[in-house]
Amino acid sequence: MSVSSSESITSPYVEVALPVPLRKVFTYDVPSGLRGTLQPGSRVAVSFSRRKLAGFVVSGRDELPEGVARALPVAGLLESEPVFTSELLRFLDQAAKYYMHPLGEVLRAAAPALPTGAMRRLRADGFLEAAENLPGQRVARHMTWKVTATRKETAGTRLGARQMKLMDRLTERGSVMLEELRGDLNDPRAVVRSLADKGLVEFEEVEANRDPFFRVPVSRDEPPSPTAAQRVAIGAIGDAIAKRTGGTLAGERSTGGTLAGERSTGGTLAGERSTAEVFLLHGVTGSGKTEVYLRAIDAVRRAGRGALLLVPEIALTPQLVARFRARFGDDIAVLHSGLTARQRDDAWQALRRGEVQVAIGARSALFAPIANLGLIVVDEEHDPSFKQDEGFRYHARDMALLRAQYAGAVSVLGSATPSVETYHRANEGRIHLLSLPTRATGATLPDVEIVDLRRHRKGPTGHPLLSGPLHTAIGKCLETGHQAILFLNRRGFSPSVRCAACGAVAECPACSVALTEHRAKGALRCHYCDFQRAVAVPCASCGSTEYKRLGVGTEQLERSVEESFPKARVARLDRDTASGDGVEAVLDRLRSGDVDVLVGTQMVTKGHDIAAVTLVGVALADQSLAFPDFRASERTFQLLAQVAGRAGRADAPGKVVLQTFQPDHPAVRFAAKHDYEAFYDEEIRDREEVGYPPFARLVSVRVHAGAEADARRATQLLADTARQHEAVKDGAVQVLGPAPAPLVRLRGRYHYRLLLKSPDRKLLRAVTALLAARIDQGLPPTHATLDIDPL
Ligand code: ADP
Ligand code: ZN
Ligand code: ZN
Repeated sequence: MSVSSSESITSPYVEVALPVPLRKVFTYDVPSGLRGTLQPGSRVAVSFSRRKLAGFVVSGRDELPEGVARALPVAGLLESEPVFTSELLRFLDQAAKYYMHPLGEVLRAAAPALPTGAMRRLRADGFLEAAENLPGQRVARHMTWKVTATRKETAGTRLGARQMKLMDRLTERGSVMLEELRGDLNDPRAVVRSLADKGLVEFEEVEANRDPFFRVPVSRDEPPSPTAAQRVAIGAIGDAIAKRTGGTLAGERSTGGTLAGERSTGGTLAGERSTAEVFLLHGVTGSGKTEVYLRAIDAVRRAGRGALLLVPEIALTPQLVARFRARFGDDIAVLHSGLTARQRDDAWQALRRGEVQVAIGARSALFAPIANLGLIVVDEEHDPSFKQDEGFRYHARDMALLRAQYAGAVSVLGSATPSVETYHRANEGRIHLLSLPTRATGATLPDVEIVDLRRHRKGPTGHPLLSGPLHTAIGKCLETGHQAILFLNRRGFSPSVRCAACGAVAECPACSVALTEHRAKGALRCHYCDFQRAVAVPCASCGSTEYKRLGVGTEQLERSVEESFPKARVARLDRDTASGDGVEAVLDRLRSGDVDVLVGTQMVTKGHDIAAVTLVGVALADQSLAFPDFRASERTFQLLAQVAGRAGRADAPGKVVLQTFQPDHPAVRFAAKHDYEAFYDEEIRDREEVGYPPFARLVSVRVHAGAEADARRATQLLADTARQHEAVKDGAVQVLGPAPAPLVRLRGRYHYRLLLKSPDRKLLRAVTALLAARIDQGLPPTHATLDIDPL
């Protein structure tokens, strides 16, 4: 849907949102050459404080603001089509208000990156020089090999193991692309060449497929007939879609294309005004939630509308994408960070024109310009990665509900372990609850054995975190030819090291955190700023070079498993071993049975559906309980329940071994029983008692500076400002702090916090607005930001 030219702005001035930390828009003059070419959502270049910035037109304006004598001209139009549709623009304006964040920064976060060099391509008349006219604009093409078997008969030819493997693949498939071999073979090019020399294969150079998610062909699937519970869910969502499609598309078209008149309403979240369009699909792991999404998306496509599926981490979901391709074909857009600017632009155009109706992506896919949006699905809605924790701090799940409301779309939040807030809303009847209580294939949920680490320390091989019961379970699993996943939420060899002479912990010079030992790299590293140093550097306090290791990370656990089970093939999945395609390669090896034990961080807990995995070991369940956060218990429950769900997804029953120092903790006990409701009941009572969300709302004010005293002083000043408000004086809004942030020092800067808390959203917003105004006046040399609904 391209915005029609009737929305072209004819007024002499425009309001432009700029990516600067000021909560206002700026008026610019429209030079005669650009008159009639600008629309709401157009990206333009303007001068600001003697710099040239790319901003977004939000509306036309007939007169200059009061007290302003003249406005600078718009320097140029950077893209011929507006970046945002009117639906998106109004949604983003509302999102900026909700988060009290500068609109220009919100729009920049939501827009695709500006084509490289666009600013330099601006001509004096305000239009762009066409790219073809510029030198050096040829795009390098990425080439690969297509390998074909020339002879089926290999008898009589002596082949090595890797050559055999490739020939087996070719016998099955006829031809393969080089990329498909990466998971199975080291250096597949060499193997192909050696077979070509023997005359068994030939290869030709072809252009590589645009996208890793589309490299391997997928055949169409036959939809399974739904279970009774799925049928209920599919029916309810389908009815809601039909209802919203029959009538008018509420709020789909703006009247005048201006935002200015709508700037007054503030800050309510969608889903709170209406109940009929938001569903919570609560289904245990493997209950067939994805099948429900597929059916719902099918229904919305048939109705001629578009759909958006948000997932926590797209890199971890190639299997999910494959299921969507099997159902809908390749006309779906997978939005991920590996796309080139050109690919992303193509995807946006196709979605906007309605040529592609389905988009799948992580957090930022929330902003995809899907034409005639009819459905938003948020899979694993509880996942913390939906919260953007830098710059424009939004929660993609919450904003998905807001966007759905603006688009007149149905939304579905899916999870085996819903967030406490979402489940609370469902209990209050503000969201429709749909339940899938059993696994779709009839498989049972795995048995969970809790191992009390206070009693069982080191197992038979003496390695920490490989207790007797876990050792035995791994042994049995390997004997029966099954696979195991071991989960430990710390990467590296040892999470910290201590000086053997004086006991000082080796810390990052720029952050207040311990350095993690990475054995393979022979280094100590900071996981926050990537600082790195050799292990043998003398202790900063006493000069000794002897260190003691504290704790166990995935690198060490992997080594322990290798030493304890010398025959097992062990692999590791964490940020150190896998990035981008690497993740898929490791998972492929697990899937094809080349790995017996996979050790990893939470990357192993998500979404994988691998039949032969019958054992899941949680090396240290307590880990996430230690975080100084009221959601620590909820997170732990979610992590444990999710990772436990990886076990025994098919015929062979699964088992989970859960090691912990706190076997009586509710998060541990209820996860072991797969009892979400019981956990929720206990958790919601605690939240009510201490007045935390969902019984109160929070705003966190973050201040940082190069010197600690400055950060503290500015935070104190903001606290004093807040305390002048009546709502704070009479106790309706609580102000907690100033307090140093959990990481006081981060990347060389000092961080302080102020927390506002209240059950009354309006009053909380009023106090927050007061602080926003104070921040906008400037607090040099500090930098202050607001985090609405912090995690
Ligand atoms: P979830 O998304 O809840 O984890 P999935 O949709 O991945 O669950 O389903 C788990 C497994 O059950 C998958 O292998 C899927 O193909 C299968 N499945 C889903 N629905 C059905 C059904 N109605 N009949 C048979 N198998 C099903
Ligand atoms: Zn020392
Ligand atoms: Zn650091």
